Amino acid sequence: MRDIKLITFDLDDTFWDIGPPIIKAEKETRHWLNEKVPEINWGDFNDFVDLRNQLIRKNSSLEWDISELRKEFYKHKLNEVLDDSAEVDNLVKQAYKIFIQKRHDLKLYDGLVDCIKSLSKRFMLGILTNGNADINNFSIGKDFSFSISSLDVKSNKPNIGHFDRALELSGFSASESLHIGDHQINDMLGAHDAGFSYIWFNNNNAIWSQKIAKPKEFSDWSLFEELINK
Ligand SMILES: [Mg+2]
Repeated sequence: MRDIKLITFDLDDTFWDIGPPIIKAEKETRHWLNEKVPEINWGDFNDFVDLRNQLIRKNSSLEWDISELRKEFYKHKLNEVLDDSAEVDNLVKQAYKIFIQKRHDLKLYDGLVDCIKSLSKRFMLGILTNGNADINNFSIGKDFSFSISSLDVKSNKPNIGHFDRALELSGFSASESLHIGDHQINDMLGAHDAGFSYIWFNNNNAIWSQKIAKPKEFSDWSLFEELINK
């Protein structure tokens, strides 16, 4: 991979496990809201998914603005039991603040910090995320030249928005760019379609199920640099 000048990275499930932390963040946020408003009826997980889909159907920008989507979800639940819209808005604001803080309570994968530090001396590094984690909440944030979220480009990977913006910001071409991520479609197919090189972070022995050729894969950040030196 001699010509690579820019490496972009996904965040959730690539730099850290996101499943358990986001469930915990949501639980603790609901607990906080329940102490203020015990009457909230949260429903089960299917209700959660249904309501999110319903909110997106009403306002399609919520599909790439997941922070706003979460606020709208809390707002909807609070409006069912409260009449005072100023009180609802205030609770939503506070609840979201709690959620986003707890959502960053994450454990970076072993070997990641040293790997990023070393890569940053040789390549320009950037973040391409569909989520709302902020890399600047971590010490390695300063090693990245830019971070692009779905909100920034008003679309989600695998669409080309994130990849195009990365080329704009870096000044490099797609053939000089490599993307790393866990998701076969959002990251691998997206990078493929954008003309980037791509390597798959696969730390759960997933089976490759895309039509495009299976990329190189790795599951341990301490072995990544060796992989791209080949
Ligand atoms: Mg991911």
